[in-house]
Amino acid sequence: MPRIMLLGAPGSGKGTQAARFASDYDVPVIATGDILRKNIKENTPLGRKAQGYIEKGDLVPDDLVIAFVDSAFDEADARGGWLLDGFPRTTAQAEALDALLGKTGKKLDRVFLINVPKDELISRITGRLLCPVCGKIYHEKSMPPRKAGVCDLDDAVLIRRVDDNAETAKSRIAVYDEQTKPLIEYYAAKGILTEIDGTIGLEKIEEVIRETLG
Ligand code: AMP
Repeated sequence: MPRIMLLGAPGSGKGTQAARFASDYDVPVIATGDILRKNIKENTPLGRKAQGYIEKGDLVPDDLVIAFVDSAFDEADARGGWLLDGFPRTTAQAEALDALLGKTGKKLDRVFLINVPKDELISRITGRLLCPVCGKIYHEKSMPPRKAGVCDLDDAVLIRRVDDNAETAKSRIAVYDEQTKPLIEYYAAKGILTEIDGTIGLEKIEEVIRETLG
């Protein structure tokens, strides 16, 4: 089973694509944003430390994230493959990931970079709706639920993420440009980067991923 990472700005569709990939390939998704939101909801020590950063659109400090990804690997890796969504986000995290994998002789097979123009990112983020129960992602215009405001799968009332407002979205995109974009070069230099146009539609993106993985 493949070990894959999705790279892209906030709103580029990583979460939506991750859910499709996970069911196609039967691999667990390790989404650091989801793990952090769950910890905030459950008011854990990690959640309390992370909350302020997330609300401002800043990154949570590397050491906190690296520590919980390490334990997420212990569970997910038992199944032989996984998909990383939203991690690594800094060069320090990418180096920590290499070190974690290196310990057991494993490596990342491929990084997919999903490219979406900046003005489209903002409208995707501000229209996003999320099921608080199953995590399914909707968009009020481009991917609405069958019944307004309610999840198709479990009837839960859909919510908006606290950081999905225009102002925080802009800072998250700026943080991406500054701290995460250097990873494009990092993975291109390793020869494992595939760039995908994120505006071609969900099915086509999925097709590129399948074809690349063979
Ligand atoms: P996401 O769900 O991936 O959009 O992440 C939401 C927020 O969680 C980000 O804006 C960060 O505050 C935090 N976060 C998620 N993943 C990471 C990471 N790898 N490193 C630092 N902060 C993260």
